Amino acid sequence: MRIVLIGAPGAGKGVYAQYFREKYCIPHISTGDIFREEIAKGTELGLRVKQYVERGLLVPDEIVINIVKEKLKQPNMQRGFILDGFPRTLVQAKALDEITRIDIAIHLLVSEEVAVKRLSGRRVCPKCGRVYNIYYEPKPREDEKCDYDGVQLIQRQDDNPEVVKQRYRVFYETLTPVLEYYTSTRRLLEVNADKSLSEILPLLEKILVDIGVLKLNPCKDVKID
Ligand SMILES: [Zn+2]
Repeated sequence: MRIVLIGAPGAGKGVYAQYFREKYCIPHISTGDIFREEIAKGTELGLRVKQYVERGLLVPDEIVINIVKEKLKQPNMQRGFILDGFPRTLVQAKALDEITRIDIAIHLLVSEEVAVKRLSGRRVCPKCGRVYNIYYEPKPREDEKCDYDGVQLIQRQDDNPEVVKQRYRVFYETLTPVLEYYTSTRRLLEVNADKSLSEILPLLEKILVDIGVLKLNPCKDVKID
């Protein structure tokens, strides 16, 4: 199950990815998370990408492609993976097809209104990367603390509502060629991400089974709230 997950800020990409990662035991590769980790650790790569990330610019294709290429060589990719935040450009999408076989690109289509509302409530665990929302499920059980490790959740700076609209528009300006590429190669699956996870996930899983992308047995029973 080799999936590319495409969604504007607020589409719920992190939550979908988390669900598939836990239920089917496949890795979730988020280039955004990788960048943030490397910047926090102050690595050479972190220093290289910092100048782009902090200015809200796209990290150059060559750097991102190499990061993903290295990740996909790891042995835990055997059952499949979910790519999140990559590819961002047509060059990256074509490079990815040379690195590996992608079964499907899932486009989580969210309206700007819903995106803004969701993001103002989003909280992230700085330790394990799990994503919560104080307005929607999955809510943290204890007040703004991670259910798994008890760490105080944080709001990412770029989830500020004023910034979200701009990010949303830039996202579609940037991603349109990528969406067209997956449409033209008959691998684009569009999902109405304004609806709740519990409405969409059973449908999405059924479609993935029907088209032969999802062949794995669950390794864990994951509930949808
Ligand atoms: Zn945590």
